[in-house]
Amino acid sequence: MKKTYHIVVFGCQMNKNDSERMATYLENLGFSEESVRDKADLVLFTTCGVRGSAESRIYGIIPKLKKINPNNVIVLTGCLSQRADVQKILKKSVDIWMNIIDLPKLHELLPERLRAVNAEEIFKVHGIRKESYFSIEAKRQSTFAAYVPIGNGCDNFCTYCVVPYARGREVYRPAGEIVAEVKDLIAKGYKEINLIAQNVNSYNSLAPRERVGVRGDVVNFPELLKMVNDIPGEFWLRFSTNHPKDMSEELIEMVAQCEKVCRHIHVPAQSGSNEILQRMNRKYTREHYLDLIKKIRAGLDADLPVAITTDIIVGFPGETEEHFLDTMRLFEEVEFDMAYVSEYSSRPGTAAEKMGDDVTNEVKKERAQRLESILEKIIKKRNEQYLGKTVEMLVEGINKRGEWYGKTRAGKVIKMNKRIKAEAGDFVMVKIVKIRNFGFEADEV
Ligand code: SAH
Ligand code: SF4
Repeated sequence: MKKTYHIVVFGCQMNKNDSERMATYLENLGFSEESVRDKADLVLFTTCGVRGSAESRIYGIIPKLKKINPNNVIVLTGCLSQRADVQKILKKSVDIWMNIIDLPKLHELLPERLRAVNAEEIFKVHGIRKESYFSIEAKRQSTFAAYVPIGNGCDNFCTYCVVPYARGREVYRPAGEIVAEVKDLIAKGYKEINLIAQNVNSYNSLAPRERVGVRGDVVNFPELLKMVNDIPGEFWLRFSTNHPKDMSEELIEMVAQCEKVCRHIHVPAQSGSNEILQRMNRKYTREHYLDLIKKIRAGLDADLPVAITTDIIVGFPGETEEHFLDTMRLFEEVEFDMAYVSEYSSRPGTAAEKMGDDVTNEVKKERAQRLESILEKIIKKRNEQYLGKTVEMLVEGINKRGEWYGKTRAGKVIKMNKRIKAEAGDFVMVKIVKIRNFGFEADEV
């Protein structure tokens, strides 16, 4: 009998990667992908709880889906799967609540009609281990860019953030397993490897007795980066997210030594005000952040400047105009290459929930717009340094208007002026001839 699945993903790259592992797992068990959600036997939702907006969407979608097709089995995983209040709201529509680390055991929870008779044999053949969902290979959507998790969870408890509750404590993957996965990706032709974790800097940072999931090969993050960099082949290497309190000089020096690592550092500031940073429990000051930026630039600026990108929250409880102006000034001082600005969203169970959500939506919006508008000017100014330069571009594809596009090592977007003889995943040398809003126009060299 034909069995089908459909996956709906919200949120971050980690969720996307988890979903790609779900796809492989189900296909190994004999399921095939169904592009129409209502028709699938099994519908899986990888949910995001970071902001209220992504959460409210599932309250609309899931009950409606169950009504249309009461026979399909609905699985809910991701950030919201462990929350009692969510479980109560969606009790009637969700059949299986799954913590993603339990993915290898999903089979046991499926109704008889969707199970495989020889599941244990299948798991053995594909090397799927019950204790590690990372042992399930990801069914990659991209043919040239791959996200590789180096761990899961977070121990930082920033007061606004739901991730430590949703994903639990930090668990690291053994370096050997990560290196083997990257080697396999390179052999398959992948050209851009992104090592990801909630805080890459704390990779293997816990005392050995507290470490979970690490078997033998204990290295820190800079050492891991070097191990991946040294895998033979032509590819770019990126990593995120860095935490300003943990990003070390050793890491900056290592990036400088590793030729495949892109000069692109994502280091979320969240706020430019010391008072707000303290209430966010970020454990660093504005001064520390600025000093870190100085070190990154000193260590990594070369022919082209290192690109520094960040995340910012506006409207955190108690954020006054004066606090916000500190963030505006931080933008001017640092000159980010990109910033992802979020309006604060109160999350159930977090420490900040108890601080009240006292900045109005209008003020949050207005502050976000003010940041975006200075950001636009800053980005333009920074990008001018590229004008007339020849850079390497990773070709990503053709857009709807038939234009070739790709990106630079620093993650900046390029649109080609003419057709090029290349395919997605090729490296080509291009000359930057014009600055656009957030990127460039270029000619092939
Ligand atoms: N581990 C990463 C990413 C966490 S979530 C880090 O430490 O940076 C991604 C981003 O979402 C955060 O950087 C933050 O800017 C934003 N975010 C998290 N919780 C939020 C909340 N309650 N409201 C608004 N934005 C939030
Ligand atoms: Fe959330 Fe802070 Fe952990 Fe990032 S470091 S996932 S913001 S708690």
